[in-house]
Amino acid sequence: MTNAEAYKWLYVHFAPCGDETQQDSAVTKALEALKKQIPQKAMKSIDAYNKNLYKLYCPTCGALVAYGNSRVGFMNKVSNGYDRCAACGQVIDWEDEG
Ligand SMILES: [Zn+2]
Repeated sequence: MTNAEAYKWLYVHFAPCGDETQQDSAVTKALEALKKQIPQKAMKSIDAYNKNLYKLYCPTCGALVAYGNSRVGFMNKVSNGYDRCAACGQVIDWEDEG
């Protein structure tokens, strides 16, 4: 079972309803943690003055995860080469980036 499948299964069978029970809190935390293990595309922001320059932001917390220059094919990951957001641990899907 992949992380995405586990997330879906837990969500379908234990969907948090916000009733503040221990089960609801535990399931909410488990879903949040599991969701960060599923690679997500970063949000791209292109520089207003130089269209070659861009920044990539974490889709979960909004922290900067990388910046680069598409004209020269340069991209620097802020997380020192790890494939996660340094701020919240979200796994980033880097495919098609850089
Ligand atoms: Zn993050």
